[in-house]
Amino acid sequence: MAILGIESTAHTASVGIVGDRAEVLGLASDMYRPPAGGIHPREAANHHVELLPGLVRQALDAAGVGPESIDAVAFAQGPGLGPCLRAGATVARILALSWEKPLVPVNHCVAHVEIARVLSGLDDPLLLYASGGNTQVIAYGRGRYRVLGETLDVGIGNFLDKLWIELGGTFPGGPALELEARQGHELVELPYSVHGMDVAFSGMLTAALAQHRKGVGRPDLAFSVESTAYAMLTEITERALAHRQRDSVVLGGGVACNERLRSMVRTMVEERGGTMFAPPRAMCVDNGAMIAWTGRLAFDAGLTVPVESSAVQPRQRTDLVPTPWRPA
Ligand code: AMP
Ligand code: MG
Repeated sequence: MAILGIESTAHTASVGIVGDRAEVLGLASDMYRPPAGGIHPREAANHHVELLPGLVRQALDAAGVGPESIDAVAFAQGPGLGPCLRAGATVARILALSWEKPLVPVNHCVAHVEIARVLSGLDDPLLLYASGGNTQVIAYGRGRYRVLGETLDVGIGNFLDKLWIELGGTFPGGPALELEARQGHELVELPYSVHGMDVAFSGMLTAALAQHRKGVGRPDLAFSVESTAYAMLTEITERALAHRQRDSVVLGGGVACNERLRSMVRTMVEERGGTMFAPPRAMCVDNGAMIAWTGRLAFDAGLTVPVESSAVQPRQRTDLVPTPWRPA
């Protein structure tokens, strides 16, 4: 039997159907791309409302199953943009009611950890979660997933997107900056902003744009931004490993698609004698399969929610959600 999972926390609407051993039976996604500028929550939510019913159908068709094969419907309850979350939750509630299936709430950040954990085969890795809106180092401890370090201002992906748009590009900026950075080689100085276990990016955005106005070209700027920002993430991940006496790291989030980030974290972890695992790109970015898989774990541990108390939680905190499938 399978779980159907719905992801809609930000720009991506996605429906995944996952089997008992985390095999992805069907996955259908569509990303909202604003015509100009960043994401407008209401516009993204409209996109999700329009596309999700078709994505449900596509995922079922890809899996070759009907509603009778679905054990439960899981949805991303938070954190995320309120209107976007509500779009996904509404579709999940309708499916749960009309198919007469239990509804399972899933925390989006925990889902990134769980999909990477099962795909890696690592029992208790640390997660470096680097996405558009989130940048966190997460580890399990004392019965909950704990945020050991995080961004103090914007998520790294939002920072890269904003920079690229200011440089004349379009959303999403991260992949375009990665290509541009491969042509760069000169390191210009940018603020290296690590505060204990936390990082900040807004100062780097201001400084990078100032360097650009002074004549630094896009390739060198992109190279320098990647070098500096990913070194900051690698540093806090290393400190978390040392502090928590762990030896393995998994990556998650759209920015974890970046080859440079992958190789910097890999080098650091392997120099410590540990293991680094980066999931395939489709499982790094926001996707319904990770919601379905975490829904499977939660459902098997008895975690369901009645429709009338299934409100979304845009600011849901990783360390406040119960994880009864993991030993305390
Ligand atoms: P997510 O929020 O996890 O869905 O990821 C979306 C974010 O990942 C956006 O900010 C993208 O710019 C960023 N992103 C995607 N691919 C890459 C890449 N190859 N390098 C850097 N950032 C990326
Ligand atoms: Mg995400």
